[in-house]
Amino acid sequence: MKNTVVLAVSVMLMLLLQNCYGQSASKQTDQKKATEYSRTDSAPVNKSNQDWQKVLSPEVYEVARLKGTERPFTSEYEHSKEIGTFYCAVCGNALFKSDAKYESGCGWPSFFEPINKKSIIEAKDNSHGMQRIEVMCGRCKSHLGHVFDDGPPPTGLRYCINGVVLDFEKAKTAEKKYSAGKKANSGS
Ligand SMILES: [Zn+2]
Repeated sequence: MKNTVVLAVSVMLMLLLQNCYGQSASKQTDQKKATEYSRTDSAPVNKSNQDWQKVLSPEVYEVARLKGTERPFTSEYEHSKEIGTFYCAVCGNALFKSDAKYESGCGWPSFFEPINKKSIIEAKDNSHGMQRIEVMCGRCKSHLGHVFDDGPPPTGLRYCINGVVLDFEKAKTAEKKYSAGKKANSGS
């Protein structure tokens, strides 16, 4: 009997802990990352596809390095309204802010502008019998998606991005408020 209670309590504790940690960590941050992955280092990353394949999940590798496209309407980021920053899932480069995100209905996360001109690289893409502009990560040159000129103001652009190559981090406003409150308390 006692053992059952101990077991039940430990299971509850485990679930509780899992919940706490599960909230801040997105699915993709649990994945193995390349040693070059950094959200602060902006030095260009050059690595062969052979080496990328060793550190990336098959889904990320397929899109990022083989210029694949994830199935439409499958990304958890397509309809997300959370405030924060989207990073390259391959190298950690900051790509898009949530305030440039909008609902295009095209089936992939869509943005009207990148964080800055250097955060991405654009190149002509004439594959699959179409004339499109490919969008790549400005740091590691991973394929992200395409940009089209049917977006909303102020840019009129639609950056149509595969969610699988994005890492999202929520803005830390709530945490800032919390630590500011703690400071005020300790000061009194
Ligand atoms: Zn990158």
